[in-house]
Amino acid sequence: MFVNTPHPLTCLLVFLAGAAAAFGAATPPAPGWKAGVAKVVITPTEPIWMAGFGSRTKPSEGVRQDLYAKALALQDDAGRSAVIVALDLVGIEREMADAVAAEAQRRHGLTRDRLVLNVSHTHSGPVAGLVVMPLYDLNAEQRAVVQRYTTGLIARILEAIGGALAQLAPARVEFGQGLAGIAVNRRRVRNRSYPGPVDQDVPVLAIRDPAGALRAVAVGYSAHATAMSDYQINGDWPGFAMAEIEQANPGATALFVNGCSADANPLPRRTEELARGYGKILAAAADEVLRGRMTPVTGPLQTAFETVEVPFRTPPTRAELDQRLQDRNPFIRLHAKRLIEEIERKGALPTTYPYPVQVWQFGRSLKLITLGGEVVVDYSLRLKQEHGFDHTWVAGYSNDVLAYIPSRRVLMEGGYEGGESMIYFGRPGPFGAAVEEIIVEKVADLVRRTTVAAPAK
Ligand SMILES: [Zn+2]
Repeated sequence: MFVNTPHPLTCLLVFLAGAAAAFGAATPPAPGWKAGVAKVVITPTEPIWMAGFGSRTKPSEGVRQDLYAKALALQDDAGRSAVIVALDLVGIEREMADAVAAEAQRRHGLTRDRLVLNVSHTHSGPVAGLVVMPLYDLNAEQRAVVQRYTTGLIARILEAIGGALAQLAPARVEFGQGLAGIAVNRRRVRNRSYPGPVDQDVPVLAIRDPAGALRAVAVGYSAHATAMSDYQINGDWPGFAMAEIEQANPGATALFVNGCSADANPLPRRTEELARGYGKILAAAADEVLRGRMTPVTGPLQTAFETVEVPFRTPPTRAELDQRLQDRNPFIRLHAKRLIEEIERKGALPTTYPYPVQVWQFGRSLKLITLGGEVVVDYSLRLKQEHGFDHTWVAGYSNDVLAYIPSRRVLMEGGYEGGESMIYFGRPGPFGAAVEEIIVEKVADLVRRTTVAAPAK
């Protein structure tokens, strides 16, 4: 707070500030947050193979809705910036995330811990990336399209990051949570006896200008973006939800932050009407939070990013892989072929994977935990239980969508999210039993390291 009464100390501060400016030193930043947001279209400009479903037999045939890279930059009153990028893509692999992060650091000094790359997991977007997943057996022409798209995509993500940082301006940052009943635990579709945990929380981060007008809003939810499955490019229900929010709040940009959606689907699904309906439901839930009482988010913003080695089970032998080359399932044959190539290239299959864990702590008011991979809901529920349901936001699908990330329970139950899906990601086999504990412990470690000490009493 400033005091208007002239005072010797005030004069001294004015003098010092003037002297600092005269010598070219940075002037002290104004207290409070600055925020900036940018929205860049990443819609493919030519027919391209679509991501997510292995059953598609031809490239895209049109565009129902544009896809976006949306970046939100936040700067605390110590002048340190961080950027979260929300992408209408099915995934992002380590190689592409690393390329974006390295360039963002070179251009803007943004360190790896201060950049989150989160994907909506839309199954109506393009195949993209520097490494094409084994799920897509593309011919040379189709690969060239994906390569062209990826080159442009990386440039556009960086454009969004730069744009958001260039827009930094004083802002109020607020947090609140609602609920929306979109997610159904999809493992129960195949096995009715499974438990059906879901996370139906709707975390909302609102960015307002000093006068209170909404400039940006980040909205989280945990369910697969699989309501649509045709050949028209679109953002699926999260894309429709964000469009709905932006329409209701002219001048504001809405970012979808995917949660722990691995074992959740919006059900029923498969029609545009249902996809738009789920979009309306999420938008209405976010609107309720925005109109209600939200909690001011305080700084400083403390960030940490690390990879932790998560184990695979003992990999298949060369003899086992040779046998799988005769399997009736083409995906199993293709997977075996790729693993054999990997053995020939590197001498052995990997026994662990460097799994990305990231924590952003906003003072003592909010923890954003971002995890790699398609994370099952057990992580979200457990981490909120351990770190506080009211102020913890858990987002999977961040920084490297390397595979499904089962909890110990899902791993033991087996099925698609428990291990069968690993072939589509080209991994040697299911994760080892310690995967959940290793990730949860690394989160606790990073939370400890980013915790701001309580003010002395
Ligand atoms: Zn998925």
